[in-house]
Amino acid sequence: MNKPLRQSLNDSSIAKRGLVFNEPLLFEMGSPGRQAYSLPKCDVPEELALETILPAAEIRDPIENFPELTELDVVRHFTRLSQWNFSIDTNFYPLGSCTMKYNPKVNNATASLPGFTQHHPYTPDSLSQGSLQLMFELQEYLKEISGMHSVSLQPAAGAHGELAGMLMIHAYHSAQGKQRKKVILPDSAHGTNPATATLCGYSVIQIPSDERGLIDPNKLESIMDEETAAVMLTNPNTLGMFETDILKVTQIVHKKGGLVYCDGANLNAIMGKTKVSTMGIDVLHFNLHKTFSTPHGGGGPGAGPVGVINKLEPFLPKPIIEHSGGQYTLNHDRHSSIGKMKAFYGNFGILVRAYTYIRSLGPDGIKKVAEMAVLNANYIKFSLGEQYHLPYDGPSLHECVFNDQHQLKNKVSTQDIAKMLIDYGFHPPTVYFPLIVKGALMIEPTETESKETLDEFIKAMKKIAELAETKPEVFHDSPQIPVVSRPDEIKAARNPKLRWQPTCLAST
Ligand SMILES: *Cc1c(COP(=O)(O)O)cnc(C)c1O
Repeated sequence: MNKPLRQSLNDSSIAKRGLVFNEPLLFEMGSPGRQAYSLPKCDVPEELALETILPAAEIRDPIENFPELTELDVVRHFTRLSQWNFSIDTNFYPLGSCTMKYNPKVNNATASLPGFTQHHPYTPDSLSQGSLQLMFELQEYLKEISGMHSVSLQPAAGAHGELAGMLMIHAYHSAQGKQRKKVILPDSAHGTNPATATLCGYSVIQIPSDERGLIDPNKLESIMDEETAAVMLTNPNTLGMFETDILKVTQIVHKKGGLVYCDGANLNAIMGKTKVSTMGIDVLHFNLHKTFSTPHGGGGPGAGPVGVINKLEPFLPKPIIEHSGGQYTLNHDRHSSIGKMKAFYGNFGILVRAYTYIRSLGPDGIKKVAEMAVLNANYIKFSLGEQYHLPYDGPSLHECVFNDQHQLKNKVSTQDIAKMLIDYGFHPPTVYFPLIVKGALMIEPTETESKETLDEFIKAMKKIAELAETKPEVFHDSPQIPVVSRPDEIKAARNPKLRWQPTCLAST
């Protein structure tokens, strides 16, 4: 039998601490003269003083107390800081909507191949055939998975894909000879949806979700008009529920000449099972750094390719990759294109990882991902239904959204539950989103977790529900395990200290 990973979850034996060191700022470390490099002796005359090469205005003043450190100082500093944090390689990370699935190491192995890492983006097409082929084929796979007519890999993230998609919708209406004014979206939408519509110059009309947590087609029909450029929706939506009236919804929008944008961040739940093109979707973005396992969570590069139907193809970001006569080429000659969305062709290393992921799984593996993601989420949903309130209890797919209604009776909030989970060794779920659920706890286990891990998480969540009944006061001091317990999040957001100053040490 598998030995449980964690200590039995009684009050006194929360997960054992590892070896964690306190860590000063780099500015508090070092000693003058230390350095992290050693260069061979210069074999050319060192005659040119900086002042003779650069204008005075371009030369930086010396930085006071600039730390001088060895390579080992720096490596230990950043490695220790990394140990203060969660990572998908060390812990379960059920952050709803974000799809924090494990990133197989083979993805990194291929992305590290020198042929890719040392390939300069200005290399001519004729010498870039391998990289172009990889991008072309990745586009083909994303087309196959979504059913969309064409795909561009350029956008650097989901929100950036949304921007590319909505700019194409904007360009389409302009080309029709009449720009429209509004974009309709449900109140469960991710914040990037209204932000994108606004950035494209549209005013945003929100429609409330119905009692099922879904879009009400009658309500939509009553406000959809010929001033509306598009409806932006997410399917499955941010409650993890499939929009069962999707065909009615897309018909209503198309009847009035509008287009339908689908936020594809939740593709994990349906890929290989159904294609969004069959639902009447006109534009879709993919989050390669969610559904297709490329790394995220540390603010690293992502990729948000965008897929469109036939009639939007002329507006795709340029250049596009073409394949004919056995040659791959970049076509910049695209008159209706919305232009370039990103320097060069997107975050190429991320594209290599997603390509590897799709090729290693194959069509059956991709389908299995969706099945296991849905199974895991439902296992958690049905295991915790007694302890936690489920505001919308229709069938759900790859994530489930509870809230703190039961625990609030004892003044234990979603925030408290999330912080306490850290002491049990789990990353908290997404909290207070989607906004339509008060005190939301949005759990997305993903398909990469074993039943043992899910069982330990469920046990911790049950224990926390019990503590909320019996010892609500213990929540105020949680979490106790991490080096930083409860930072003042509002102060950190409103008043960030981004620059080190000697006085900040003295005053805090
Ligand atoms: C993550 C997410 C986005 C934004 O994607 P980024 O890659 O973070 O820009 C948009 N919508 C939903 C539903 C998401 O989960």
